Amino acid sequence: MDALGFLFDELKSLKEQGLYRIPRVLAGEQKAHATFDGQDVVNLSSNNYLGLTTHPRLKQAALDAVETFGVGSGAVRTIAGTMDMHIQLEQKLAEFKHVDACLVFQSGFTANAGTVSCILGKEDVIVSDQLNHASIIDGCRLSRAQIKVYPHADMDGLRKALQEAEGRRVLVVTDGVFSMDGDIAPLPEVVEISKAAGAIVMVDDAHASGVLGANGRGTVDHYGLHGQVDIQVGTLSKAIGGLGGYVAGPQHLIDYLVQRARPFLFSTSHPPAVIAAASAAIDVLLEEPAIMETLWSNTEFFRAGLKELGFDTGASQTPIIPVIVGDEKQTMALADGLFAEGVFAQGIAFPTVQPGKARVRTIVTATHSRDELQYALDAFAKVGRELQIIS
Ligand SMILES: *Cc1c(COP(=O)(O)O)cnc(C)c1O
Repeated sequence: MDALGFLFDELKSLKEQGLYRIPRVLAGEQKAHATFDGQDVVNLSSNNYLGLTTHPRLKQAALDAVETFGVGSGAVRTIAGTMDMHIQLEQKLAEFKHVDACLVFQSGFTANAGTVSCILGKEDVIVSDQLNHASIIDGCRLSRAQIKVYPHADMDGLRKALQEAEGRRVLVVTDGVFSMDGDIAPLPEVVEISKAAGAIVMVDDAHASGVLGANGRGTVDHYGLHGQVDIQVGTLSKAIGGLGGYVAGPQHLIDYLVQRARPFLFSTSHPPAVIAAASAAIDVLLEEPAIMETLWSNTEFFRAGLKELGFDTGASQTPIIPVIVGDEKQTMALADGLFAEGVFAQGIAFPTVQPGKARVRTIVTATHSRDELQYALDAFAKVGRELQIIS
């Protein structure tokens, strides 16, 4: 007897709804031009905004760290797994973000979930943007606080939720850059409204780290809001090119997380190579600003090209550029057609986005050549016309 037999029915149901996904497999390095499922493609699906996954300075730093410190940290941070390089990276990140202190987690996911779940409790309220990342949502659930979701970027909705929560401890949390739409949170308004209500403000800068603000410091820097956002989460897994997440904020926040954040307490710390690469990445952000300039000029070029062809790029303001199709099946046909033409851009449908809002999501990087981006635009034009998404 197969006690897991019921999963066959679940899988069948996913397949019938067109929601069953088989991850494409990458051979070789994660680059702007790459080989997925044996096919040579222009890669518009990675979060490798700055090309740091293969940057020589990061590779060398990782190799040196393996030689000097080995491959593993051997323990959780609170037992024996805090190496001096962990502390040095946290100091470097704190300085970079212009905050008192930083704490590195295994991933952006655990940074969000671990932080939200441990600073709020069941008497408290969390006010959360409707399009916030799954790791924030899981953190909210784990905290057992009451959760109030406001419509995406809707400041009246935020005000209303805060009024309803009056008299209680409240956390307002938003993504800095929204991962499926590429729009930037209206952080100055979020801060003003939340502070007037005495709420804590937290921003998740996973897609803004290394992308927005001076040298990629994030949305707080982008809007000139230093000192006004209580908790900033960043990731080391996207533009920074490796793996990890961090929380940046006042010293007492970090001191508390060290005592209470469960992923920090109960899961082994990063191996030396990962920490060394992240540290080298911050040096690259500070010393090679031209990479970010190329990222943004490529972004403007590609978004303008898609718009000119007649595609709907929604509210995109960043290198995340969705091509909104609406219909789920047409979206998947566009993504498949593009792949056959040598362009990898992920089709995204419900439940990741709302029903009827399906899209092909593209992410431009600094390392795409203009030829590669033009090639992708030509493929979008061809397949888009074949499917009558554009005329
Ligand atoms: C990717 C992402 C995360 C998780 O970061 P990882 O470092 O990949 O775990 C958190 N929040 C948002 C908005 C993200 O897009």
